Amino acid sequence: MTKFIFVTGGVSSSLGKGLTASSLGRLLKCRGLRLTMCKLDPYINVDPGTLNPFEHGEVFVTDDGGETDLDLGHYERFIDESLNRSSNATTGSIYSAVISKERRGDYLGRTVQVIPHVTDEIKERVYRLASDEIDVVITEVGGTVGDIEIVPFLEAIRQFRRDVGRENVCYVHLTLVPYLAPSGEQKTKPTQHSVTELRSRGIQPDVIVCRSDQAISQALKRKISLLCDVPPEAVVSAVDARSIYQIPLVLHDEGLDEHICRLLQFDLAKYPADLASWTELLRRVEATEEEGAPRVRIGIIGKYVNLPDAYLSVVEALRHAGFYHGASVEIVWVQAEEVLAMLASNSVHALHDLDGIVIPGGFGERGVEGKIAAARYARESGLPCLGLCLGLHVMVIDFARHVAGMDGAHSTEFDPATPYPVIDLMDDQVDVVNKGGTMRLGAYPAQLSPGSRVAKAYGQETISERHRHRYEVQPRFHNKLSEAGLVWSGMSPDGRLVEMLELGSHPFWVGTQAHPELKSRPDSPHPLFKELLAAALARAEGRAPRILDPRELE
Ligand code: GLN
Repeated sequence: MTKFIFVTGGVSSSLGKGLTASSLGRLLKCRGLRLTMCKLDPYINVDPGTLNPFEHGEVFVTDDGGETDLDLGHYERFIDESLNRSSNATTGSIYSAVISKERRGDYLGRTVQVIPHVTDEIKERVYRLASDEIDVVITEVGGTVGDIEIVPFLEAIRQFRRDVGRENVCYVHLTLVPYLAPSGEQKTKPTQHSVTELRSRGIQPDVIVCRSDQAISQALKRKISLLCDVPPEAVVSAVDARSIYQIPLVLHDEGLDEHICRLLQFDLAKYPADLASWTELLRRVEATEEEGAPRVRIGIIGKYVNLPDAYLSVVEALRHAGFYHGASVEIVWVQAEEVLAMLASNSVHALHDLDGIVIPGGFGERGVEGKIAAARYARESGLPCLGLCLGLHVMVIDFARHVAGMDGAHSTEFDPATPYPVIDLMDDQVDVVNKGGTMRLGAYPAQLSPGSRVAKAYGQETISERHRHRYEVQPRFHNKLSEAGLVWSGMSPDGRLVEMLELGSHPFWVGTQAHPELKSRPDSPHPLFKELLAAALARAEGRAPRILDPRELE
């Protein structure tokens, strides 16, 4: 029978609940347990697809086209399992389901209420993930205990204990133990208040994970144990880790997975912890931090650079490639809107000092000309460049304008009157007015050209990547652009849609219509990021040509 772990958070947001849940997931997986994870989000948007990345960070897309919370990215990277749209539920999606049922008459004339109808729907979302193949479902409840929006979720998860039995449910509560410098003490009061609040909703936590910048002493653990009514071994000190990939080991050393296995009555002899592969990963992570490890500087030419969470998976994918190459990756945030001014100034500019760039996805016109200029600069100066989704669009626009003689070429997303709409909606999409749910979303296959750089990188010619976009390279321009030298190295199986492009003569100028960053895992980096980094390393080590003074460019 499937068992259920619920992770809630108290005191403050941004404590790393997602990372704690993911790390616990990894530890249980290292014990041979079969698990899946899900996130319950108390906001009212039906999914995060319509949320501004400034507000909520990146939208993580699953193979089945779910637009989900970025924590699902952590889950996938840590537990190394692909999740799907049912792995994330928001208040909006839950109410929307309840209201549809009410309209259909499913409630047979009864008054529809938060308890039991909304709470039943919440429970149903979690139960749906249980099966004969799953030993544990870890569910993270978004938000903070004490929020108004979280109440129905707490009520729903509280009912689990009664529904499935005490030995099949475990509640993990994450809190903050702040250090007050003037008194030189770590304080437990916020934890006590948070646990009191949780109890007022009927949930007695089984485990309290305390986030703090310094380890929590045994004495303090005993105090929390006494005041919050959990055994001392159930108080776990989760001290700030150097790298997020260290967190599983921090929690393991604190006995978290062992304690939870005991609570859930998993036989420890049958499920011993085998952390060898994770420890090996950490060894590689640490090697990149050693003095003398090769270094590369990779620029991310973005629009949301003030909120790096907007590009979370891109950053992680770059780091994973760094682990593979044993190289430390310094991320340089480049505001797309500043690129034109940077290039126009007569001095050697910031782009010149980079070893490679990523032009990530995005929506809306702001910064697009800067991204086109960055793509052009990379193309002309031999700077390794990987374009993701909108990144591929700007590479096509640059090539059309500056190589193929299509002056004014653009995407109709930004200039509907362009004389050369090289990027446009497909004919069967043009009537689309409504912005919700009109994107090409989720996994699509692509056929890579034999012998191409991308086929070599992947080591295969049929691939699948996740998408999230509306606009496509327009088929009527394919020939003209390829005659001018642009290589369409990946196409949809019917040959209609461009999936990948590259340039034969360039060290690495590759664009993809997809979001490969979503599939990179710390112990199996994505091939395109691996290759970008290989080219960037060659440049950093002086093995690749570099135009010394950008002013030499026309
Ligand atoms: N805005 C572009 C489109 O909708 C690109 C989207 C993206 O980069 N994810 O096609």
